[in-house]
Amino acid sequence: MLNPKIDKRNISKINRYGLFAREIILKGELIWSTTENRIKKISLTEFEKLSAEDKQIWIDHCYQIDDYFQMDVDDTRFMNHSCSPNTVDFPVDDPTMIVAMRDIQKDEEITWNYLPFMNPYQEFPCNCGHENCVGVVKKNATIKRTI
Ligand SMILES: [Zn+2]
Repeated sequence: MLNPKIDKRNISKINRYGLFAREIILKGELIWSTTENRIKKISLTEFEKLSAEDKQIWIDHCYQIDDYFQMDVDDTRFMNHSCSPNTVDFPVDDPTMIVAMRDIQKDEEITWNYLPFMNPYQEFPCNCGHENCVGVVKKNATIKRTI
């Protein structure tokens, strides 16, 4: 479930559609949490049995956790990637929620780091504009860290 302080707008500089804060969201506040009825989940074995058309839908919208592909059925799927995101998953190894990692201002875009969860078939250029940008978002890509 997505925090009701967040809505989808078609003004994102990252990828046209994105999620934005309707009002200030404080550090640590819940952005999204897992509820099974809001998520479609299939095993990698089930994925291999899909038609080419259905596979493409999963490739475009899913993220991978362990041996499963998951896809949000609410507006959460419009949350864009950033190499300098303002949210973080929790707990890190088995995320069931996403929280604000700092205060997020009204009308600021909500972003998340996709990289730990990329499925192996998806790859796209990153438009986040940050100095540490990975360039191409794909499985096993890593964000350059500056000290
Ligand atoms: Zn980037």
